[in-house]
Formats: sequence, structure tokens, C-alpha cells
Amino acid sequence: MKLSKNAEQLLNARYLLKNIDGKVVESPEALFRRVAQCVASAENKDAQTWEDRFYTLLTSLQFLPNSPTLMNAGLPNGQLSACFVLPVEDSLSSIFTTLKDMALIHQSGGGTGYNFSQLRPQGDLVSSSGGVSSGPLAFIKIYDTATEHVRQGGKRRGANMGILNVDHPDIEAFIISKSQGNILQNFNLSVGITDDFMHAVGTGSDWKLINPRTKKVAKIVKATVLWDKIVEQAWATGDPGLIFLDAMNRHNPVPKEGRIQSTNPCGEVPLFDYESCNLGSINLSKIIKIDGEQQRTVDWDKLDEAIAVAMRFLDNIVSINHYLLPQIAKATKNNRKVGLGVMGWAEMLALLNIPYASEEAISLGEKIMHFVRSKSYKASAELAEERGTFPNWEKSIFHPHEPMRNATCNSIAPTGSISVIAGTSYSIEPLYALAYKRVGILGDQTQMEINPVFVDFMQSLGLWTDAVKTEVLDTGGIQALMDIPAHIRKVFQTSLDIHWKYHLKHQQAFQRYTDNAVSKTINLAENASKETVSDIYMTAWKYELKGITIYRDGSKANQVLQACHLN
Ligand code: UDP
Repeated sequence: MKLSKNAEQLLNARYLLKNIDGKVVESPEALFRRVAQCVASAENKDAQTWEDRFYTLLTSLQFLPNSPTLMNAGLPNGQLSACFVLPVEDSLSSIFTTLKDMALIHQSGGGTGYNFSQLRPQGDLVSSSGGVSSGPLAFIKIYDTATEHVRQGGKRRGANMGILNVDHPDIEAFIISKSQGNILQNFNLSVGITDDFMHAVGTGSDWKLINPRTKKVAKIVKATVLWDKIVEQAWATGDPGLIFLDAMNRHNPVPKEGRIQSTNPCGEVPLFDYESCNLGSINLSKIIKIDGEQQRTVDWDKLDEAIAVAMRFLDNIVSINHYLLPQIAKATKNNRKVGLGVMGWAEMLALLNIPYASEEAISLGEKIMHFVRSKSYKASAELAEERGTFPNWEKSIFHPHEPMRNATCNSIAPTGSISVIAGTSYSIEPLYALAYKRVGILGDQTQMEINPVFVDFMQSLGLWTDAVKTEVLDTGGIQALMDIPAHIRKVFQTSLDIHWKYHLKHQQAFQRYTDNAVSKTINLAENASKETVSDIYMTAWKYELKGITIYRDGSKANQVLQACHLN
């Protein structure tokens, strides 16, 4: 296998099996064999054939499942899912039961999301003790501290999504909760937004905050005042993001099971309480062929085949997974949700010589995701014929016309680790920088990387000079090199060079054909204004996105990726 230095180091540190002395005792090939064999154990016949097909797909780096599958498949009690949602009801018993369940999930490498809106507000009556409630924020802080100390058995730190609905009486405190120093570092915070609230912002109307225990109006505020607070904080700290609850529920495949209230930590999977989901991503940078005219083009046949095998792989995981709780086993197996998505999108575009910030890129993105969705639905329908529909199928939007094995098929995950293993660009994000050091994943051990797609491209045109290399290492980009033809400069624009409208259009293009959701960060330069943040959040709602997150350069202490000039 050909792996980058960063991939090798990441695999060594977190994924390859170690003996009790901490020495790595597994090769990358053995890891992929372990995973392929475990996932093929779900097959009733031809298990060896399927194992080999899974192995080939993984080792070609055309497809990788989420990290817990790579870490835990084939181990005793291997927990293989990345995404969970847990209930938080208005009782100490529920709050602390979920805290314990969270710890177990984090230890296995999974991430957890919760909606805290059922909790009575701070200062509200507690009848059993005659005292007053601490409110949702106090409990979010406890979850955060617990997360800090679980640290997932040394493999990775837990991630959480904390949602509070926009009509909760504590919403103002929630919105500003990350402004006081480096707190709640293990939480992404999102305000649960409704269409009614957005209309109230549009018309400048009053907005009622309602006590969830008494259902009485606790306070009336101007919707625009809340909106401005959200925008101001997102501008200052990156949090809160927004979750669009109504858009999410318009696309809920099993509405008879109730409303979905939360997503997993990075927002790509809306889930019911106790549901989990397995993700996997196709590496688009590997789905390219040379056509008869010696031009690079999308290899649709290869994509088709990868999708079919990947869907079977993900469905198998639902069957063989070790579930940490009986409630999780039940909720997950009832809907059998999986999330097949993509990574390496920016590299595919660069290989095809298409600038990310172009209408051509947007329409290719739609075409690709449309293809991924229709082929994964076809694969799920075929699996339903072979293995039966998901148990809740009769309650679902697919009944009676479309037999399906899985209530959902697609998510666009951030691929924070698996894209490093695959040696490609994150998810559907633009190239972050042409040269960068990845920090946060492995601390000091990480290498300075110059994007190999960029180096190859420049070499093929005879443009790879010392001056270009120096500029890239100094600034992370080539936008100041006026000698380089404008089109090439445009193809190699990086995240901060790209106007937010294109960031958002890519998210919209992929969301249109993604039944779950798209995890995307709209990266902004440090000098971006609050009005821009407001425009982005408003446009995201108009685009029928399910959630939105921005990040203004330099606005948080710890960035996972740093362009080299920041070091
Ligand atoms: N996740 C987590 N902790 C992490 C990274 C990810 O719990 O440190 C979970 C979280 O639910 C996230 C999902 O895994 O939404 C997918 O994240 P990503 O695609 O970055 O994971 P990878 O498979 O690349 O490790």
C-alpha cells in the first residue's frame, strides 16, 4: 500500500493494534484485512469473496469507513459507529444516565449529540427538593468536564453536539456560553431554529421564550435581538452554529416515530434518541480515469461499483456491530441508517482542472451526489430484496412503493481523520492550504505537507520552481504569484480565498442529494464582518440546509489545521 507519511503516523498512533508494551503489532494491510474479514462475517454465503472485495476497496483507498470501524472491527466487543444521539429528559436520573452512556460511547471512539431543551430553566422550581434548578448550561458543563476526562481510552477525545431550542428561556445564556475563555471545548453548540423564528426575524416580531416544564411564556424578546446575539457570538468564537429543525424534519424518513431533535457532533446525521449511524466516505480523488482523448474525467463505472460494495459494507456493520446498550441496538436496528458520503472533492476538482469557486464545480457536485444517492438507494433496495426491509419500513416514507434496507443512505462527514489516512482533501471542503502542518491530530509529530496533487500539476506544466515552492511554504498559496496563469491560480485557490457564496453553494449542491445532512464549515478570513455571518446564516436557511457552521480565521484558540504561515 502507498500511504503518505502523515497517514502512516496517524495509523501508528491511533489505529494499528499494539501489544501491552505499546508496540505496534499490525501493518496497515493487516488492519484492512481485519476490518474486511469482520465486516464480511455478516455474509451468509460467499463471505470470502466479499471479504476480498471489501479489502480491495479499502486498500485502494477508494472508500474508508468512519474511524471506530477501523479501530475496533474484529476486536472483542468492537463498537463500530461514529454517531449517536442520546436523550436528556428533565430529571436528574435521565441526565446522569445519559452522562454515563456518553462516557461509554466516547471510550469506544463514538461522538454524541443531545438536545437539552426539555430541561427546565435555571432558577426554576424543583418540587422534589424545594430547591431551584441549575438549568441546561450547568449540565452541559458537567458533560464537557466528563468528556475531558474520558479521553476515549487514549485513541481520541470525545466530541459532542449540544443543542438548545431558540424558544428555551435559557437561550441567551446558551448563546454566549463560549465567550468566557476556553470553556466547553468538547462541545459544538447549535441553536435549534424553527421556520417560525426565522419569519419572526424577517418581520422584526416579538419572540416568546417558553418554560418547557410549565409550557408558560417565561419572557418575550425581539427575535432580531436574539439573532444579533447569535451572529455576534458565532463571529467571535465560531459557536453557536444553527440546526434547522423544520428542514430536518421535512426530510425525516420515519415521521411516525416522532420529531427528530438532535444530530451527532458534526451535524451530518439527524437521529432519534438512542439511534446510532455508521458512516463511510468514497475518495473522489481516486474516481478519475483518462479518456480516449487523454483527458482526465470522472470514472462513473468505478463510482457505481464502489457505491454498491460500500453500501453492503455499511449495512453489514448494522448487523454485526457490538451495541453498548440494548436501547441503542433496538433504535439502530429498527431504521438501519447508514451514511455514505464523499471526501477528496477539492482534489477531484483540481485534477479535473476545475476551480472550486465556479458554476462548473457546483453542477458537477450536484451530478456526483445525485449519482451517489441514486446508486446507494438502488443498492439499499437490492439489499432489501435479499435481506428484508428495515423493521420500521412500513412506518416510513418509502412504504409501500420502495422497499429499502436502510432508512437513510447518505451523509457528508467531515472525514477529519480518514481523509488523512486516504491522503486526500477533507470531505467537500476546498483545499485548506497548499502547504500546511496538521496539528491537533498528532501534536508535534506531524509533517509539513505540500499538496501532492498541486506539485504534480505544476511539474506537468513545467511550473514547479524554487520560487513557487518558497512562496507556498511561506504563505500556503500561490495567489500572489502573478506569473502563474490566472486559471491555474484559480484552480488552486484555498479555503480563505474562496468567497463564502461558493462555500455555501457547494453545501447546498451536496445537501440537495443527501438524505441525512452535510457537515461543512464556512471558512472566513479574519476581517469578515458580522453582517457577513448574518447573511450566511440567513442564506443557509433559505437554501433549506439542515445546519450551518462558520469559522472566522483566528477566532478560536485551537484550530485543527493551520496554514503553514501561522506556525
Ligand atoms: N467524531 C468523534 N470524535 C472525533 C471525531 C469524530 O466523536 O474526534 C464523530 C462525530 O460524530 C463526527 C463523526 O465522528 O460527526 C465523523 O467525523 P469524521 O468524519 O471527522 O471522523 P473520521 O472517521 O474521519 O475519524
